Amino acid sequence: MAQIALVSGANRGIGYEVSKQLAGKGFTVLLGARDLQKGQNAASQALREDGLTLHPCQLDVSDTASIEALRDNVADEFGKLDVLINNAAILYDTHQRASTADLNIVRQALETNLYGAWAMIQVFLPLMRKSGRPRIVNVSSGAGAFGDMGSGTPAYSTSKVALNALTVMLDAELKSEGFLTNAICPGWVATDMGGSGGRPVRDGAAGIVWAATLPDNGPTGGFFRDGKRIDW
Ligand code: NAP
Repeated sequence: MAQIALVSGANRGIGYEVSKQLAGKGFTVLLGARDLQKGQNAASQALREDGLTLHPCQLDVSDTASIEALRDNVADEFGKLDVLINNAAILYDTHQRASTADLNIVRQALETNLYGAWAMIQVFLPLMRKSGRPRIVNVSSGAGAFGDMGSGTPAYSTSKVALNALTVMLDAELKSEGFLTNAICPGWVATDMGGSGGRPVRDGAAGIVWAATLPDNGPTGGFFRDGKRIDW
């Protein structure tokens, strides 16, 4: 059976490109989109422009019922999940500073960027335990590295620091079962979130695909950009 990969927030930006690159490598890719119509449009575009088949599915990572409904569908159709890519994220809050940040915005960022990824892992873990080569990829950011941290984007940076911590804790728990769990920074990428001036989406996605396709003796519990370790 083909390897099954699930990518959250895959109807546009880096998640869409990751989905296409994985499909190009022979994965069966479940393209998660909170608006199913947008997911279907993205899948049609990938087929039309690149001849790639992606499988759109409704997935809002901030909605437990949506996550569990998808888990049930994946269980019925495939009986396992090999690769989980927690890519969906929001609120690159360049307009805020920590001293005055609107805590409702901080909570909103954590809801999707941290708790969304966390819930995805918890709900899909039983299906990933049925995989012979489980890989969890948490899409993080240099904005969540202590060494790089400035005074801006307090909601976003806090959510990514916490996602990095979750990565380390999960790795400590799951590596004895053969899981490879890593946090990946895609670099500054020209998407709706990154804005213009960043590097091509293809390049940002490649480091995520690298982590999704690591061999069994590959690294785990680390923070990487372009396949190279970076400081937390
Ligand atoms: P993007 O273009 O803004 O796309 C974000 C995606 O996440 C969209 O598909 C969006 O869906 C989806 N999403 C948002 N909330 C969701 C939810 N509750 N449930 C499911 N999907 C949801 O962002 P991007 O630049 O591709 O970023 C992808 C990842 O890379 C993020 O984790 C981001 O933090 C990280 N990153 C990006 C950069 C950069 O320079 N771009 C740098 C470092 C890290 P809708 O279309 O429905 O809104």
